[in-house]
Amino acid sequence: MAEKIYLASPHMSDEGFEMEYIKEAFATNWIAPLGPNVNGFEQEFASKVGAKFAAAVNTGTAAIHLALRAVGVGEGDIVFCPSLTFSATVNPIIYEKAIPVFIDSDEETWNICPIALEEAFQKYPQVKAVIVVHLYGLSADMDKIMAICNRHGVTVIEDAAESLGTLYKGRQTGTFGEYGVFSFNGNKIITTSGGGMLVSDNQAKIEKVRFWSTQSRDSARHYQHSELGFNYRMSNISAGIGRGQLKVLDQRVAKKKYIFEYYKRELQQLPGIQFMPINDWNDPNYWLSCITLVGSIKPLDIMAALEEENIESRPLWKPMHQQPFFEWCDYIGGTVSEKLFKSGVCLPSDTKMTDADLKRICQIIKGL
Ligand SMILES: *Cc1c(COP(=O)(O)O)cnc(C)c1O
Repeated sequence: MAEKIYLASPHMSDEGFEMEYIKEAFATNWIAPLGPNVNGFEQEFASKVGAKFAAAVNTGTAAIHLALRAVGVGEGDIVFCPSLTFSATVNPIIYEKAIPVFIDSDEETWNICPIALEEAFQKYPQVKAVIVVHLYGLSADMDKIMAICNRHGVTVIEDAAESLGTLYKGRQTGTFGEYGVFSFNGNKIITTSGGGMLVSDNQAKIEKVRFWSTQSRDSARHYQHSELGFNYRMSNISAGIGRGQLKVLDQRVAKKKYIFEYYKRELQQLPGIQFMPINDWNDPNYWLSCITLVGSIKPLDIMAALEEENIESRPLWKPMHQQPFFEWCDYIGGTVSEKLFKSGVCLPSDTKMTDADLKRICQIIKGL
């Protein structure tokens, strides 16, 4: 059988940048959490995305959790978030015993719909925070969303886990809201084998997040705690991988774009295929190349045909309001998120793919 083609898998630099940082950590015995790579990664990351401060943690989910705590979200508080997303966007709301309200997507962006968002504000004026997600590397329409949230005086957290490198009108996604969250899980555009980052221009809040993420140890000789702590900090080894990966981020974005454009060139003339929306103001990282289908060929047909050739593809995220665990939550909007889920496919978007791989994938799809 042909070698497996993944949806998106870890891709270390050809130059071995990551290994240099790891070797240095070994040589200096900075194996324990914290150490120079963690500080270095935070600074380099903040300057890359154009944020003032950054806190490195062990997952993107932890970054969302601590962002919610930084906003002061607690028991019974309402938090808006898009229904079409990965569950990691929502779970931390539940960790804090707060209440998610799901919002429909906008067909033009695949992200949170400004009209449904405004409607949600009418219904829940007491809302404490809004989480905006930039799915598949496509930016949400931030001007409209920030205007609505600012008018209502509500804090925005951007879940930019999938959109590192994506620009909205020239500015990095994750830097519009008070807080921006990134993930370095194995399938993301760069990886630390698992990790996350919280960015903000609010220095006091970022320092607080670092404090919480290292068990909330007060400054005293003995172990002294006046607040609930978490063990969420990124390790010095992971941060070393991150520093190396950050050097090839632009390269990865360029290859992801190449993959998307290859598919588009080869497949867009097929009846019933539509590509994910690339708006003028959107400069995506093309994390995953996604399509929707309207004709007789269904997502399952494409996924099954690819799987037979040992090629991985996936449906789009299943909306949260359709998940058994979140059935009790309110949902505002229409049927856009459901339609996207039913008709969408994420095509293989691994940056290690060759032109021959891409050609093979396109031939399988054309063969249907
Ligand atoms: C990957 C992802 C996360 C969570 O990141 P982890 O590092 O895996 O915890 C959150 N939100 C979205 C939209 C994601 O894709």
